[in-house]
Amino acid sequence: MKMKNVEKDIVEKGYIDRPVPEGDELVKAIKELKEEKNAVILAHYYQRPEVQDIADHTGDSLALSQLAAQTDADIILFAGVHFMAETAKILSPEKKVLLPDLNAGCSMADSCPADAFREFIEKNPGRTVITYVNTTAEVKALSDIVCTSSNAVKVVGSLPENKKIIFAPDRNLGEYVRKRTGRDMLLWNGSCHVHVRFSVNRLLEIKKEYPEAKIIAHPECESEIREIADYLGSTAQLIGYTRKDAGKVYIVATEPGVIHEMKKNDPDKTYIPAPPLEMNKCACSECEYMKMITLEKIYNTLKYELPEIKLEEEIIKKALIPVKRMLEITS
Ligand code: 13P
Ligand code: SF4
Repeated sequence: MKMKNVEKDIVEKGYIDRPVPEGDELVKAIKELKEEKNAVILAHYYQRPEVQDIADHTGDSLALSQLAAQTDADIILFAGVHFMAETAKILSPEKKVLLPDLNAGCSMADSCPADAFREFIEKNPGRTVITYVNTTAEVKALSDIVCTSSNAVKVVGSLPENKKIIFAPDRNLGEYVRKRTGRDMLLWNGSCHVHVRFSVNRLLEIKKEYPEAKIIAHPECESEIREIADYLGSTAQLIGYTRKDAGKVYIVATEPGVIHEMKKNDPDKTYIPAPPLEMNKCACSECEYMKMITLEKIYNTLKYELPEIKLEEEIIKKALIPVKRMLEITS
């Protein structure tokens, strides 16, 4: 009976909405459930600070895929978005992969529907199809190689120089990689709504106030931001940069969740989130999908082992090939 209610919640809301222990008890109860069920919690750097803190591992998309492929846990709870949990399922199909809220999608993955992408590939034959990991499993199944923002240059550079490429879905990452490698890359016109809404004017106003500040940006940002950045990199690379760099102030043009790890590494430095064009609800550049994962939802997900990511065997088989190729190139 209880389980029926839980399933109803998932159908109606996308997550389980049941009472949870309060205060410090909640963190304790999550840890106990994790032990009891031999579960591992993987969290992306864009997650809420308290979610990052309870995770067994935090990382960028690449590190989390590598961890999902290697873990010997029975359950992988993904504190991230849907395509990340799908990638974990593709890499560890025998494991139970849980996502605490099925609404945690991604505007970039949505910008590349599988049917339209299949047509695009057919209209442009003879090109190697490289897709960014921010895609659905169906799109991965149409690809030759997958990449993440931390290894896109390496993956494209691993192909013979005369190879023509289709790159999807992110046109900004694609432009960045094309500039770095000089390769013939036909770009899909997709993007991330968080990374395209930074305001260059408002950012430069902050720079005037803090002339010593370094601008660090994710390659998903538009070219005007990329061009003025002192450093470009994936979330893990941005965190690594602020750790090693001698600077004291950074304007951070990516989802501000990364600042949690930066502050942990170097609490004495100043990290200023780059401002968005228009004020949204939170007056910041948070990814609302990433922020859908909460401690309450994690508790219920571990308790009921739902919502679970399920993929057709055929899709897993096809999508695994390009994901594995990426891991081989990067290992
Ligand atoms: P990375 O973790 O590869 O930096 O990707 C950022 C991102 O947008 C994930 O959704
Ligand atoms: Fe997708 Fe952008 Fe959110 Fe990353 S930040 S999950 S690319 S919508």
